Amino acid sequence: MRTCSICKKQFIPDKFHTHQKYCGVQCRQVARHKYKKAYNRVWHKLHPDYLKSYRSKKNKISKKH
Ligand SMILES: [Zn+2]
Repeated sequence: MRTCSICKKQFIPDKFHTHQKYCGVQCRQVARHKYKKAYNRVWHKLHPDYLKSYRSKKNKISKKH
């Protein structure tokens, strides 16, 4: 098992690409371009529950709005 340098997800590297640093095409693209927007998009795609829990926490804390 390897940890993806971009999304920190664990993945099994390809037999033929054992030095793979990224879990998939998307992360490889992000690494290549180092676009922060692209990174966020990939990250949130892979961690859909993070934003939900973040929002629900935020709603509980901020009663001003
Ligand atoms: Zn990844």
